Amino acid sequence: MTTEGKALHEQPVTSLRGIGPAMASKLDAFGVNSIQDLLFQLPSRYQDRTRITPLSALQPGLFTQVEVDIVGSEVAFGRRRALLVTTSDGSGGRLTLRFFHFSQTQKARLERGARIRCFGEARRGPRGLEMVHPEYQHVDDDDAGPEETLTPIYPSTQGMQQTTWRKLTDQALARLHAGGAVHDLLSDIAINSVSLPPLATALHTLHRPSPEDDIESLLNGSHPARRRLAFEELLAHRLAMLQLRDRARKHCSPSLDGPGALRRELIASMPFAPTGAQTRVIEEVCQDLITPHPMQRLVQGDVGSGKTLVAAAAAAHAVESGVQVALMAPTELLAEQHFHNFDTWFRSLGITVGWLSGKQSASQRQASQSAIEAGHTAITVGTHALFQNDVSFDNLGLIIIDEQHRFGVAQRQALRDKGPHAEAVPHQLIMTATPIPRTLAMTSCADLDYSVIDELPPGRKPINTVAIDAKRRGDVVARVAAAIESGRQVYWVCTLIEESESLAAEAAEETAGALESALETHSVELIHGRLKAADKEQRMQRFKRGDVDLLVATTVIEVGVDVPNASLMIIENPERLGLAQLHQLRGRVGRGSEESTCVLLYKSPLGETARERLKVLRETNDGFEIAERDLSLRGAGEIFGTRQTGDMSLRIANLSIDRDLLPQIADAANAVRTTHTARIPPLLARWLGRAAADYAAV
Ligand code: ADP
Ligand code: MG
Repeated sequence: MTTEGKALHEQPVTSLRGIGPAMASKLDAFGVNSIQDLLFQLPSRYQDRTRITPLSALQPGLFTQVEVDIVGSEVAFGRRRALLVTTSDGSGGRLTLRFFHFSQTQKARLERGARIRCFGEARRGPRGLEMVHPEYQHVDDDDAGPEETLTPIYPSTQGMQQTTWRKLTDQALARLHAGGAVHDLLSDIAINSVSLPPLATALHTLHRPSPEDDIESLLNGSHPARRRLAFEELLAHRLAMLQLRDRARKHCSPSLDGPGALRRELIASMPFAPTGAQTRVIEEVCQDLITPHPMQRLVQGDVGSGKTLVAAAAAAHAVESGVQVALMAPTELLAEQHFHNFDTWFRSLGITVGWLSGKQSASQRQASQSAIEAGHTAITVGTHALFQNDVSFDNLGLIIIDEQHRFGVAQRQALRDKGPHAEAVPHQLIMTATPIPRTLAMTSCADLDYSVIDELPPGRKPINTVAIDAKRRGDVVARVAAAIESGRQVYWVCTLIEESESLAAEAAEETAGALESALETHSVELIHGRLKAADKEQRMQRFKRGDVDLLVATTVIEVGVDVPNASLMIIENPERLGLAQLHQLRGRVGRGSEESTCVLLYKSPLGETARERLKVLRETNDGFEIAERDLSLRGAGEIFGTRQTGDMSLRIANLSIDRDLLPQIADAANAVRTTHTARIPPLLARWLGRAAADYAAV
């Protein structure tokens, strides 16, 4: 072969067997053009088909390989016709195999007396443990036994079959073996300090682990081969973020250097004194606003820490300095709450606050837009509608985005164009209650400056969290009645698996009805995502005013809603939600001076991860600790692979396992930026694929 020995980045994938034009363009779509590119498409996980598990040791929820004798088979005509195959293996355990689709030949071969090896996920079923449609093969005399090594599983998201992946990577590895070089972009960089294997070895191990490789460490992600590549991937992401930051800093913004009198007047008009943390963060923000380059600051403050005041102070400072401000919230409900607050606060200072949402009537919207365009509205509060193309500001200088740390790089960039001209990019302030562990902030948000409001307003009592089995629902309802009796207000949150909002709404409606009749005299209100904005707002306002005792809601109340008199929250089926979301929900209570309680009304039996999550919530109210523990729990649950962390979609790195590498990665990033800048584009292309272009240096 002519290509033999040539560097693999110079060998096109089309030189492999089995790649026609259609496949080539599919590969091209995710940035794979050379054989080297192909080698960086790594398995996202492994299946262990090396061991045979005795049925007596089979556990639900795990993918397992078993070798069993068929002791019976029948076609059952239940809700769905199914072939049920009963098996045993002499260990004392039993397993049913369930097939909804089967041919007559298949059925005939799955007869009593046959011996088969199956791989599948064991689940609890009506007849004990079952596997639904396991992969299986008959074990006959010339059977080779279980696999010798782990089976790599490639990400299927790209619409390519496992067999295709395997055929292609087999050939690519053969080229590597034949002396084709992979470009090691980390040579001479501080990676030596973490003693990881050379690149070619690591790639080989990950694609085709050998029987000598340690299975446990490959399965749990601690294998040095994976860590070698994770190091490189996280480095690429950090470099990308740093490039974005450099690029953002090259832009010019108005220097907002007003005297600060308006800001002080606003703060003085509040019924409370700002906390030390609020004062410090307001100061940090205003310092940024003075510089002639765009602020890109993320303010993190746990639920109830008072981020709204920081936003208002920043807005006051900007308005006094002669520019317009836009405040965007992710939901209609939250945007309206901000509008009411801002309108009340700023009206008395003689400043106009405008409102813009997608749900306004055409004429109202037109009026809002004209006022914004003419510069009559100093501050505009709204939803995403604020940044539609048809909205143009006269002189926008500050954009505040609430509860959106997932606000993407691309979205942030798009907002730049909202300034009055190319030389005046608006400052950006992003607020979130989602704590970002420091280590994580280093990579996923490295393009932003970061402030933390690490203090709650005085007098807050910690929320007492209890977990109660749904079997004791009656007790919980009695508790709700007692709380209402003593003049407190209550949230009842319905969580649903159903993706569809209308089903969620229906179920919440049912719960509201049931609670209304159980509580008889008390007033119950319902909110869910299907209600019209105005209706939802009215219902919410009724709850805020205290006209309603019990608010039944879907998770739409998740962010930002503030009702200090509500001091009891019931979360139904909390096991369906992640830790971060549960913590956010719980933050709706504990906002007043009353002692607050959050009841996690779970359905037993709980899985291990769910039980751990509820335990974490009972043990701590500290958002940072919850985030850290969430990260390690997630690490335990799913081994490694593609997942979304802010803007990052990681292929092989897993921040819960690889966190300890981050300090060395930061050093390596500095080394690359000072002495190896030529490596930045290939590193970004390798790990960010097509998206690398969005992060290119100017
Ligand atoms: P966040 O958006 O950070 O979750 P909010 O800005 O909604 O929190 O504030 C939560 C509640 O705390 C509001 O009722 C607010 O008026 C009140 N609050 C904010 N700052 C203070 C303070 N320094 N002292 C007392 N109460 C405060
Ligand atoms: Mg808020």
